[in-house]
Amino acid sequence: MSRLYQPSDYVVSKSRLPSFEQYKEMHKRSLEDPEAFWSEIAKEFYWQTPAEPGNFVSYNFDINKGKVFTKWLDGAVTNVCFNLLDRNVRNGHGDKIAYYWEGNHPDDYSRITYRKLKDLVCQCANGLRERGVTKGDRVSIYMPMILETVVVMLACSRIGAVHSVVFAGFSSDSLAERMSDCKAKMLVTADGAWRGEKLLMLKKICDEAIDKAEKKHGHKVETCLVVKHVDRVTPCGQLQEYTTWDDERDVWWQELIDEQSTICSPEWMAAEDPLFMLYTSGSTGKPKGVLHTTAGYLLYATTTFRYVFDYQDKDVYWCTADVGWITGHTYVVYAPLANAATSVLFEGTPFYPENDRYWSLIDKYKVSQFYTAPTALRSLMKFGDEYVKRHSLQSLRVLGSVGEPINPEAWLWYRQLVGGGRCSVADTFWQTETGGHVLTSLPGATPMKPGAAGFPFFGVEPALLDEGGQLITGEGEGYLVFARPWPGLMRTLYGDHQRYEQVYFSKFPGYYCTGDGARRDEDGFLWVTGRVDDMLNVSGHLMSTAEVEGVLTEEPRVAEAAVVSRPHPIKGEALYCFITTTDGAHFDQSLVDALKKLVRARIGAFAVPDTIQYAPGLPKTRSGKIMRRILRKIALNDTDIGDTSTLADPAVVEQLFKNRP
Ligand code: ATP
Ligand code: MG
Repeated sequence: MSRLYQPSDYVVSKSRLPSFEQYKEMHKRSLEDPEAFWSEIAKEFYWQTPAEPGNFVSYNFDINKGKVFTKWLDGAVTNVCFNLLDRNVRNGHGDKIAYYWEGNHPDDYSRITYRKLKDLVCQCANGLRERGVTKGDRVSIYMPMILETVVVMLACSRIGAVHSVVFAGFSSDSLAERMSDCKAKMLVTADGAWRGEKLLMLKKICDEAIDKAEKKHGHKVETCLVVKHVDRVTPCGQLQEYTTWDDERDVWWQELIDEQSTICSPEWMAAEDPLFMLYTSGSTGKPKGVLHTTAGYLLYATTTFRYVFDYQDKDVYWCTADVGWITGHTYVVYAPLANAATSVLFEGTPFYPENDRYWSLIDKYKVSQFYTAPTALRSLMKFGDEYVKRHSLQSLRVLGSVGEPINPEAWLWYRQLVGGGRCSVADTFWQTETGGHVLTSLPGATPMKPGAAGFPFFGVEPALLDEGGQLITGEGEGYLVFARPWPGLMRTLYGDHQRYEQVYFSKFPGYYCTGDGARRDEDGFLWVTGRVDDMLNVSGHLMSTAEVEGVLTEEPRVAEAAVVSRPHPIKGEALYCFITTTDGAHFDQSLVDALKKLVRARIGAFAVPDTIQYAPGLPKTRSGKIMRRILRKIALNDTDIGDTSTLADPAVVEQLFKNRP
């Protein structure tokens, strides 16, 4: 039995949706009459041609009945950028701050209003057009967390170009592969960026990537647009000696954009025209080029942001995700702007100049909604409570979590210490593919349990299936699937609709299959238990990695735990655990014994791990997720580890192979 937490009176008193009953009623309404539900929100936006009544949604999820497809608001015509900027300026938000930008160094910061942002986006859009970018063209973006990144994404959407952001931590090989896969006409980057004390040579990596795209994949990038960013704060010509400059191909942002007109007519887009594409994190294998379209994504991003973060007019919202991930797309760029929100955009790391940078920024900007990942929380918990306690954090009301199941220990630390026991925690389950949150708690409405993603968002109909495709009703655990589309669901994988159907719709015809497992408990809460491939079966007991890891991290000496299975002649599978320790703690036999005892007490004797290995670090994707498929190989001492292009630090893997007990 896990503890139930109710939203505090403080959160409820401010909430737009202050009761569980109201949530249930709205959710029911959203499923019974999707058209009535979503057209209410569509009314807020500007439509060149509105959707026709009766034609709001059509889809086929059953691969046996023909091509899988989803359409929302078919026939409607609009422009997302126009709705995010021009509409808000017209509605009196022109002088409102869209972003507080905070640079890597605390002395480097700025702010931008909605009006100014609109002007910059128009200038940028005109610049893109000047370089021949038109509707339907793909533009790759490899940028640090700076305002120009938001500007160029929106400029693409203004002229109907499809942006493909690649996280600026990927290698030149990964960038080359992604640019070639989508046949990008243009690449947008910056000269470089500081992250903490490390200087990233972005233009240099881009030079290599453009070269590799041509030589390895036969794809030529026509233009490379470069923001002078580092040069602004460190004008030492430091980067010049590392970069080449091709006068035909390369152009400085400041030279192309600054003199452009601030008037730019938007390209009117059909509801189902592509808005952007984005490659998944690659935790499970080769990344997939997920494609999102115009109208449905706009409605869904807007609505989830409003209810999940309970954003109100004077609030300041901060999502720490990099724009290179879907969280950055939906909840740094599109959703906050659609709601005329004020956000913080942060370039740096939580550890620079000190380990309290996040907490100090929350106080500096009086942040009311803070949205981050469990991996960040765990790495900050490691330093102890001191850094948090230095700051007031009184402005906070809602705390969000995304990316992985959050272990209860981290959840409690987040709520109690960071949130002062007063804030609601929204554990948001979603995927690149889902466009926005699909399972979550809602701050003033739903009760919470540490580690549970909670309940379906409006328009979302989850189901649990067993291996044979039978519905699990009531309590139970199985494959997490969705029985119908919500407006934000991806429409295809770029250039590969067959892979789309095969990956998401072939296992259980009639359902969108997430690839994750979930459990429904006695109170109807949904617990995402991790990827189905990561499930463990020990002596006939089915367990999730999240469950065991949650127990291991209860031990104060453990900072992070990752659990995989290894074949075992008697038990079928045996547990193999990797442990990183908190600052100052030692990994020794007493810790191993304590952990075994803890698992026995919490789960049962059958779950006691066979092997507990010390890990100085864990193999993670560049978005910070543990790559358990690589850990399984280490457990087996099998060095054939497959695609590692998304791995953040390959040295960790070598180390772990060496450390095997
Ligand atoms: P790939 O699909 O390429 O292997 P990925 O699945 O890690 O990469 P994302 O789309 O960024 O790429 O991540 C979505 C996945 O992250 C989900 O399928 C789920 O496994 C996990 N996830 C995200 N948020 C949560 C959450 N709140 N609770 C549990 N799991 C989560
Ligand atoms: Mg995935």
